[in-house]
Amino acid sequence: MNASEKTVRILIVDDEPINAAVLGEVLASEGEILIARDGPSAIEIAVAEMPDIILLDVEMPGMDGLETLAELRSRRLTETIPVIFVTARTEDADEEKGLRLGAVDYIAKPIRAAVTRMRVRNHIRLKRYGDLLQHLAFVDGLTGIANRRRFDETIETELRRARRRGNEISLILIDIDHFKAYNDHFGHLGGDECLRNVARTLEGATNRPGDLIARYGGEEFGCILPETGIDGARIVAEAFREAIAALRLPHPASPTAGHLTLSLGVAALEADEGTSADSLIKAADKALYTAKQTGRNRVCTATD
Ligand code: GH3
Ligand code: MG
Ligand code: MG
Ligand code: MG
Repeated sequence: MNASEKTVRILIVDDEPINAAVLGEVLASEGEILIARDGPSAIEIAVAEMPDIILLDVEMPGMDGLETLAELRSRRLTETIPVIFVTARTEDADEEKGLRLGAVDYIAKPIRAAVTRMRVRNHIRLKRYGDLLQHLAFVDGLTGIANRRRFDETIETELRRARRRGNEISLILIDIDHFKAYNDHFGHLGGDECLRNVARTLEGATNRPGDLIARYGGEEFGCILPETGIDGARIVAEAFREAIAALRLPHPASPTAGHLTLSLGVAALEADEGTSADSLIKAADKALYTAKQTGRNRVCTATD
């Protein structure tokens, strides 16, 4: 998934529903609007939904805007989300304090629609540039697909989102069969070209924008499938296996087939299980091991 293709999400936090509704109207043209009525739920939504920008009311009962901002800044997941304060207070000292705490901007109530819209749009554009730089740090140099770092971050983010929304999530681990022999036969450069070809083909075989294909290790790939249960994931894995087999890439040194093949392990997680990314990976890895042991060029699931 490309950072610039993602839907823009705007979180509005205000204890007065009417204020949030007005702001939501003004910004509806800029992205999907999420609304929170207090600091704690703003943080919860920010962590789960990763909005591109947060418009934060300063005066709220309980946890106020300044405390909410400090909390957002202290968390790894939310620390880079830009926050704009929206407030009726317009004292210089308040403004300075908010900006010093890390707010990117200050908007005074009553809000002016056109100016607010443009400021939000500008901040979202800056955020997107930041995202783009981050994206470049998350791409595998050889194949051009997501790298291991991106895989590790994505699986955590998606697990959290799945738990929050009560969705399932699946993982496919993919390993090229007899790749050492492929290298030995065609040379390391031939092996590299093959890895690029496999990466491209796997990416072409995924169809949902939320799916992530990453290079997991040397000749191993991982595919994270949000909102997907074991049956759906098995179908995707089988499509991967067939897509690579259909390339008929010659692999004369393979004892499995005369062409390049994959072994795949699939595991799924129910959202309400308190399981970690680690256990999901372990389960998929175990299934992959079974696929290797039972003949390669096949898909096995954690329940097999
Ligand atoms: P199996 O069917 O059991 O998976 O056998 P295998 O030979 O594929 O597995 P093994 O783990 O023994 O070997 C993996 C090979 O992948 C060894 C290594 O040379 C190769 N490899 C790993 N990373 C790269 C890379 O970046 N480029 C190339 N050309 N080869 C790589
Ligand atoms: Mg208020
Ligand atoms: Mg391997
Ligand atoms: Mg292998």
